[in-house]
Formats: sequence, structure tokens, C-alpha cells
Amino acid sequence: MDRNSGLNEKKTKKQRNTCKKIITAAVISGASLVLAVTAWGAAAKQYTGTDFAMDTVVSETLYTSGEDLNPEIGDMLRETEEKYLSWTEKGSEVYKINQARGKTVQVSDALAGYLEKALKLAEDSGGAFDPTMGKVIRLWDIGGENPHIPDPEELDSLLKETGYENLVLEGNKVTLKGGAALDLGAAGKGIGCDIVMDFLEKQKEVCGMILNLGGSSVMAYGEKPDQTPWRVALRDPREEESGYLGAITLNGGEFLSTSGDYEKYFMENGKRYHHILDPETGYPVWNGLTSVTVICGSGLIADGLSTACFVLGAEDALPLLEKYDAEAAFVDEKHNIYLTDGMKSRFELMKNTYTIRDSFK
Ligand code: ADP
Ligand code: MG
Repeated sequence: MDRNSGLNEKKTKKQRNTCKKIITAAVISGASLVLAVTAWGAAAKQYTGTDFAMDTVVSETLYTSGEDLNPEIGDMLRETEEKYLSWTEKGSEVYKINQARGKTVQVSDALAGYLEKALKLAEDSGGAFDPTMGKVIRLWDIGGENPHIPDPEELDSLLKETGYENLVLEGNKVTLKGGAALDLGAAGKGIGCDIVMDFLEKQKEVCGMILNLGGSSVMAYGEKPDQTPWRVALRDPREEESGYLGAITLNGGEFLSTSGDYEKYFMENGKRYHHILDPETGYPVWNGLTSVTVICGSGLIADGLSTACFVLGAEDALPLLEKYDAEAAFVDEKHNIYLTDGMKSRFELMKNTYTIRDSFK
């Protein structure tokens, strides 16, 4: 599978880098192995940065023996949004597809690649991840200027026009049928993380980096000079300010994505209207989950999967996660945490008000 081959590529690359270091060190002699590795790490400086891109705060921690690349990385993310993904920027490819009103549009290799993966995920998730819900998303305007419960008739008529089958991709030609509108909001930050990882792989001086887009999409590349693992804090979905319920360990070459009902929402009559929508009903997903965190070897897939798994619910999401060789943590409103087998050793609970459950039932 496409995505899995990406994962293997990344692992191979990391192994190659590690190999290079070990071979260099081994030639010097066994005794100086630790010294050589330490010296390589010591040459790397840490650069931290905060930026704004893809509608969110970007936190960057880069370890390199070369120059600070954080400003360039911020520009790269903004350019990705402007060139490919934005639904408001007139120059973006997504904007052009939505304006074409059913006519076929020729797109770049890059966007065709993203759409191919997004469509496959839409199909594999039985439509739980649906990149054609643009108009329904705009109608709710959750997180926008006028968030509101839509008129049910209007919602219904827009919903009839959605569905990933309406998105037809043939090589670089895209046709969006039947009045649907493309929205890659559920995978965009992951795409940004993929682009940064590809860039870093070409930078010889870079030892490692952790890139965090708004807490919901994270990329870990390479390693820290002191070889300690990358760790990502997991938000407590019911604590507005800086409440963390746990931490997850990431390896270099991995991506983490969280989808939560706390990220964008409004309350009305005690009910939480949040931004993850059930493509079948057009309403926010109310299945008891408050957040889903996914780890895998592709940013786009991690991002898309966390949204899809939120829609599907923990039990139904398991086969999908397995198919993509991904691990996940599900948190629900009763403060239960469900972990896939591969997540168990990476997850550290930090709050005793939450309980890790053994079974998904
Ligand atoms: P965030 O963008 O905050 O990281 P997600 O990755 O979960 O969160 O994406 C949620 C966004 O994706 C929504 O704001 C909306 O634009 C879009 N969306 C909502 N529901 C779906 C869905 N079922 N399938 C695809 N996209 C969705
Ligand atoms: Mg997502």
C-alpha cells in the first residue's frame, strides 16, 4: 500500500542515518564509539520557534549543526496552504476545484497525490472521513464568525450533494460532481507535516526536529542530541487551559494527530456543537468520545485517521487502524482511555481522574 511504503522508506532512511553514525564510530574504535556519537550530537544546536500558519500556532524545536531553518519551515507551511489547500485563497488549487462547478480541473502532481490518499482513506473508512463536505462545514461555521445550528432542510439538501464518490480523480484531472465542495481541513496540517519531513530528510546538518501544529498535528524527525525520546503531551479534553492527561512517546519518522470535540465548538442548551461532523447525518458526532489520537508513518494519514476514528468510534475504528499500521488512544467523556496494543507502551497517564481500560467493549 502507498502509505505503508512511505513508512518503510522513512524507517529505512532513519536506519541509514543511524548506520552512518555507527560505522563512523566503529572505524574510530570500539572505545570511542560513545564519544563519536556524543560529539556528533554536541555539535547540534537547539533552535526553538513559534509561528502562525495553517490557521494555528506552530511550535518548532530544531536540532542542527547548521543554520536555523524554523523561519523557512513556517514559510513552507503558509505556502502549502496558499498554493494547494485553502478554500478562501483564490489562487489555491482547492479553491479552483470548488469554483469549477463540476468541470474537470487539471491539478499539480502534489495535490493529485494528496487527493489520491484522501480518497483511499474515505473509501477505507466507509465515508467516515469525507473530503467533500465543504458546504456543510461552511453552513455550521463552527470556529468561524457565525457558528449556528443550521436549518434542517438546508442541511439536508447540502448533505445530499456530499459523498466521496462525487470526487473523481484520473491522473492529474479532478472532477467534483453534483454540487459538492472539497475541504481538506481534516488532513491539511498532516500534509504540512509531511512536507516538512520531506524537506528535513534533505538537510544533512539536521539531527532532529519536533514540529507541533496547534497541538493537533505533530511530526517527529530524527533524534535529539541526547538520544532521549520525543514526547508529546495529550490535552485533557475537558480542561480549557493547559490541562494534560498524559504523554505519548514518538519515534523519529512518526506523526501524531489528535481530533477532539474541544478544539472548535459552541454550546447551546447544554449541548456541545463541535467541528467533527458525521457525514451521514451532517451533525456533530455525539458518540461519547472527547478525543482520538493516532500515530502512524504519514502526516496526512494520521490527521485523516484521527478524524475518521472519531466518527467511527473506538470499536469500529480498530480494523481501519490495523489496515494503516497505526496506533491510537481514545478518550471518552466518562474519563476512560482505550489504547491499541502498540500504544500501551508509549502512553504515560498523568491524571488519576482518568482510567485506562483493558478492553474496548
Ligand atoms: P483539526 O483541524 O482541529 O486538527 P481535525 O483534523 O479533526 O481537527 O479536522 C476537523 C476539520 O475537518 C473540521 O474543522 C472540518 O473542516 C473537517 N471535517 C469535519 N468532519 C469531517 C469528516 N467527517 N470528514 C472530513 N473532514 C471533516
Ligand atoms: Mg484530522
